[in-house]
Amino acid sequence: MATKLKVGDLVWAKMKGFPAWPGKIIEAKADVKRPSNKKLHHFVFFFGSENYAWIPEESILLYPFNRDKFTSSSRIPKGFKEALEAIEDAYKALPASTTSKILKAKDSLKKSAAKVLKNKEPIKKLTPLRKYGTKRSLSTDTEQRPSTSSKPPAKKQRPLPQLNASPVRSPESSRPSQSSIFNLSESGFSHTKIRSSDGYKSPDAEFSAAIGIRPENHISKGEDMHATMLQNVSSSTQIEESMLPRPVPKAIIPTPLRIGFLGLGIMGQGMVMNLLRSGHEVTVWNRTGTKCREFIKAGALRGLAPSDVVHNCDITFTCVADSSAVRDLVFGNSGVLQGISRGKCYVEMSTVDEETMEDVAEAIMARGGVFLEAPVCGSRVPALEGQLIILTSGDRKLYDDCYSCFEAMGKKSFYLGNEVGTATRMKLIHNMILGSVVASLGEGMALAEKVGIDQEDLAEVLSLGSLSCPTINHKSQAIVNAIANNKFDPHFPLQHQQKDLRLALTLGDRAEHPLYVAATANEMFKRARRLGYGDSDIAAVVKACSV
Ligand code: NAP
Repeated sequence: MATKLKVGDLVWAKMKGFPAWPGKIIEAKADVKRPSNKKLHHFVFFFGSENYAWIPEESILLYPFNRDKFTSSSRIPKGFKEALEAIEDAYKALPASTTSKILKAKDSLKKSAAKVLKNKEPIKKLTPLRKYGTKRSLSTDTEQRPSTSSKPPAKKQRPLPQLNASPVRSPESSRPSQSSIFNLSESGFSHTKIRSSDGYKSPDAEFSAAIGIRPENHISKGEDMHATMLQNVSSSTQIEESMLPRPVPKAIIPTPLRIGFLGLGIMGQGMVMNLLRSGHEVTVWNRTGTKCREFIKAGALRGLAPSDVVHNCDITFTCVADSSAVRDLVFGNSGVLQGISRGKCYVEMSTVDEETMEDVAEAIMARGGVFLEAPVCGSRVPALEGQLIILTSGDRKLYDDCYSCFEAMGKKSFYLGNEVGTATRMKLIHNMILGSVVASLGEGMALAEKVGIDQEDLAEVLSLGSLSCPTINHKSQAIVNAIANNKFDPHFPLQHQQKDLRLALTLGDRAEHPLYVAATANEMFKRARRLGYGDSDIAAVVKACSV
């Protein structure tokens, strides 16, 4: 196979579950078995850890062209700094003739990229989010806070909280270790963005092409567990198979903080999987313990109870069904509160009412803990793909500390202010609109059946017109698919949607604001629940309209 990577090249190399790491291509050691698959591999020595491994070419990027590519994070994993220093020393020791060639190539590529960019439209500025009513009272950090941002500002490293007890398994360094290095199958990171629709070639792509790396998108399938989960998704609903987004590779430097996760439902499973894939150390707990097994196999630690997880972790995330589940988990026996001590961080990701969120925040903070609410938009597939939209409010510093976790779980995170409840209000309004749209779709599909219009034809017409969007397309197809077996595989369980409509109506009541459509949609979801479709997908709301 053709390659222009050669022994001696300084590289970024990526192993599954680890951040991209500085390395050098070296001659293979005779006693180290070559990988059996057909991919082109190179034998890479890792700076800092001084380990080596076979790495597929698609997971390697030349260092000289990409020196800063993986260094811009507020959280640097242990050992990374030393590895960077070592590769920089090696880079500086390159003969002058080599470095001047590199600089020339880089310069010419910059110029050609600049030429293309000159012809592109200027990027529009984002309009800041409007504040909720007059109630918002932001503390003095308001000025520094960008109203919407996925990237926290540069910040000082915070010393890790001191813990009394160690986790079930002792934390490992983020770098590849000698013991694990040959056991892991590598998953690639991407050179991506080879060619966009306007023909623009990113400088990375140019470099990749220049060094002979295949000029296609190097998105790899991701690890086994991810593939299995996607298989489960696609086998359960045919429509999802064709619409499944491709895994989005991300270069994430995981925080060295110990992460806990409570709740392995539809959403929690995807989120935890992405935390693990990006190299975070995660301790999990779920009420039904058997759901933890797959995650332990994938490298998670097991917490014995919510209090145990909180006690052993620096930041604990929760994503469970509803307000009563959150209250059980936080205030119950061996609950979250019992593990909270000064400096412990807690992030509530479930969709609940403002009052529950406020009660939890108050209780956590009363014990010296730090609180952030972070409900999410997106369902099963976005959770699996790390493409959620994360809405947060509460402690700004904790939001910053969650940076690499939010990067792993989502495509964008918003910090909406320090007032607890703000993110919840945003989330409820989002889901109120979602519920109303899906209820209307169900009504239309049911009417089609009644008046002799083929539902499949209607689904196709909808998908081709201006109403085409993921929700309309997925849910209309789910209704068509359910004709045969009356089965609506849950991506977003109907009972959760009805809960969100109910909570949105309460929000409207409190604000003395009329919500005509949402009120009717809520009645439809209530009826579908009554008919036994609570655990089904929200598309089953069509059943409420069938008379
Ligand atoms: P799910 O699949 O129904 O899972 C619910 C989770 O909550 C399970 O882990 C369950 O544990 C746990 N749980 C329920 N009652 C509990 C209790 N009393 N004590 C402890 N744990 C309890 O729900 P999901 O779809 O993952 O949704 C989780 C949250 O995210 C909800 O608030 C939902 O509104 C929100 N959300 C969902 C979606 C979506 O599309 N699915 C999208 C955005 C937001 P067991 O496994 O033991 O039952």
